[in-house]
Parts: sequence; C-alpha cells; structure tokens
Amino acid sequence: MSADYEFLTVDTVADYVRSRPALAGTVDPDRLASVEEIGDGNLNLVFLLKDEQGRGLVLKQALPYVRMVGEGWPMTPERARFEVDSLRAHHALVPEHVVEVHDFDEPRHIIAMEDLSDHRVWRHALNEGLVHDGAAAAMGRYVAALAFGTSLFALDREELARRLAASVNPQLCLITEDLVFTEPSVDAGRNSVLPANEQDAADLAADEVFVTAMGRAKWTFMTHAEALIHGDLHTGSVMVRAGDGTTDCDSVKAFDSEFAFYGPVAFDLGALWANYVIAAARAFALGEDDRAAWALGLPAQTWDAFETEFRRRWPDRVDGRVWREPFLEELLTRWREETWLFAAAKMSRRIVGAAKTKDIETLPEDLREGAARGVLRTARQAVRSAAADASPAAFATMAGDLLR
Ligand code: ADP
Ligand code: MG
Ligand code: MG
Ligand code: MG
Repeated sequence: MSADYEFLTVDTVADYVRSRPALAGTVDPDRLASVEEIGDGNLNLVFLLKDEQGRGLVLKQALPYVRMVGEGWPMTPERARFEVDSLRAHHALVPEHVVEVHDFDEPRHIIAMEDLSDHRVWRHALNEGLVHDGAAAAMGRYVAALAFGTSLFALDREELARRLAASVNPQLCLITEDLVFTEPSVDAGRNSVLPANEQDAADLAADEVFVTAMGRAKWTFMTHAEALIHGDLHTGSVMVRAGDGTTDCDSVKAFDSEFAFYGPVAFDLGALWANYVIAAARAFALGEDDRAAWALGLPAQTWDAFETEFRRRWPDRVDGRVWREPFLEELLTRWREETWLFAAAKMSRRIVGAAKTKDIETLPEDLREGAARGVLRTARQAVRSAAADASPAAFATMAGDLLR
C-alpha cells in the first residue's frame, strides 16, 4: 500500500511542531534537547521530543500497515481518529486517568499528546518486579467511568446515536475478532508456540467447551454496543508513576485506545484480568510466589473499584423509569461473568497468537514452557468456573492453582 501522506522522522518533527499552531507553548521547536522514536508497540510510530527547558511532547503517527509485520499487513491509518475521539471522550469523563491530547492532524494521522515519560509503561514495571499500588483500582474506576458516561445511562438518545455512528471501527474490531476470539483455536498461520507447548495449544483447540465459549465471547463482542470501550486495555496500555520513595501510584493513565468502539464493558475488564494472570505466571515461573500472589490480588482491586464507581454513578442515570435497582444488580452480575470469558480469550491469544507479551517471552525457555501451559490451562478453566462463582477471589484462586 503506498501512502499518500508523509511519515514523520526525527529530522522533521521540529518543523512539524512549528507548523501546528495548537502546539505553540508545548515544546520550543527551536530549542529541542532531544528527539527519539520510542515506539515499542505493534502498530505505530511514536516520537518523544524534549526541549532545553525540560518540557516534553509526544507525537504518535499511524502508518498504513502494521509496524510489527511491515507493509505486508496493511491497516487503515484512520485508526488514529478512533484513538483521538476515544481519548478525548474518556479524558472528559476521567481526566486524571487518561492521557491528554493536544492536537490531531487528521490528514497525516498524527496525534500530539501529553508527555508521560516520567511514568512507566505498567507492563515494563511489572516485568521488573516493581509494585505500583493503586493502578489496578484506578483502571477499574476508569472502565466504570466510560461504562457509565459514554452509555445510554448518561447520554440522550440522539447524542448516543451520533457517537455510536462515529465510533464504528470495523477494521480494528476485525483484528480483535480474528486474533483474540478465533485464531487461538483456529490457526490462520499466525500462531506460534514453543515445541514443548504444541500439545497444550492442540488441547486448547480441541476443547469444545472452550471453543464454544469463544464463539459466545466473539458474538458478545460484536453485538453488545454498551459503551465506548478502550478496546486494547492490557498492561502495556497503562502508564504508572509512583510517588517519591513509595510504591503508591500518584498517577495512572490509560493511553493507546485506537481499538475503541461501542462494545462490551467487560472486554476492557477481561483484558486487565488476563494480563494480571500473565504477570502472575511470570512471577511463579521465576519462583517469586509472593509476587505472584500480589499479582493475583489485582483482579479484585480492578473489579471492586469498577463496581464501586459504577454504583456511585448509577443514581445519575438519565432515566430511572425502568432501569431500576434490580437491573443494576443484573448488569453487574452479567459483567462479572463476562469478565472471566473475555479474560480467557485474552489469555489464550497472548500465548498461542501472533501478539505475545514480554512477560512470558523474556523468560528463559525452560521456564517459559510451564508459564505458557499454566496460562492456557487457566483460560480453559475460566470458561468453566465462572458459572459457579464469578467472584474475583474465585478467579484468583483458580489461576493460582493452575499456574503454580
Ligand atoms: P502502539 O499503538 O503502536 O502500541 P503506543 O501508543 O502503545 O503505540 O505507544 C508505544 C510506546 O510509546 C509506549 O509503549 C510507550 O513506551 C511510548 N509512549 C506512547 N505514548 C506515550 C506518552 N504519551 N508519553 C510517553 N511515552 C509514550
Ligand atoms: Mg501500545
Ligand atoms: Mg496501539
Ligand atoms: Mg513454583
């Protein structure tokens, strides 16, 4: 695919900042101290600019293909608009937990945003064995804020219809539908596992209960337009910063929401849970059982904060005529069960699918095998156990038993 727009380079970003009136006052393009391309994600270019006064700016540009694969996997750069629209909508609801956008250049698919380089990508911090208390709860509050604030509980009918129409994101959704729900059990040539895990992957694909559950998960993902969800809320889409000399977060921010669309709320919660399990699998593999237990406490922190925040907002719903209290209880029960289902999907795709995680991939090979097996077993059990007891404590117990 030949692009009809210019890609940024470290040599052109200063001129670019000069050309954008909205960026006046962010960094001084005439006195830049450093410019780096820091993108480590699968999809996009990301530049970090610092000026001599220490001010920073981040420019993220969508390419017309998947960065991790190259031009052989085309992907619409229009995804930048979905990212900007969702970041802005979410920032309006929970400014403390969403990166701030300064400017959007639609023709060139460039988002200019707040520099969070004094934060850490949560996944990186987790892999270094660091603790950021409060991050899991912050993300629960964030999901609750968008679950309520972008939904029919907060918006009038016409505004909701406008937002729904503007957020239809079929190309990015198709990636999720294929990679997260279908390919873990139906290989399209993009899967890979260690030779020692081939039987585990085959067992997963042959597990009728699991595959049936993935069909239900995919259907739910494609049909339940509940709220403008993040759509890719793994621990690599969260920035964390601890206060000086403490493990308590003084800032937690979601970013990288190009997969945003009106979808099921529990998809974001399940993504978080799955990545907590993966962090725990890494810790168990390294013999760090205390740390694994800590990681398995995170699902409850996210869920409890989500539930508390959603309940807090519920009295503000636009219309209480039929949306009574028992329906709130039904909703929360449904979302909790769906969180297990989506977590199962997300766990399996990260082990057998195309996009893996550093948590597992950076383990020595002899430890990786067992960690991968434990995560796949947890995924298969999760689709069976939720019906009996969907509490996050039961989830943690189940995962701990299968990962250890
Ligand atoms: P992709 O969509 O390609 O995954 P991301 O938005 O995740 O791109 O950005 C890739 C990386 O760039 C992040 O993992 C992080 O290290 C860095 N990054 C992205 N946004 C910011 C920001 N606002 N401030 C600091 N670093 C950032
Ligand atoms: Mg990313
Ligand atoms: Mg992304
Ligand atoms: Mg052990």
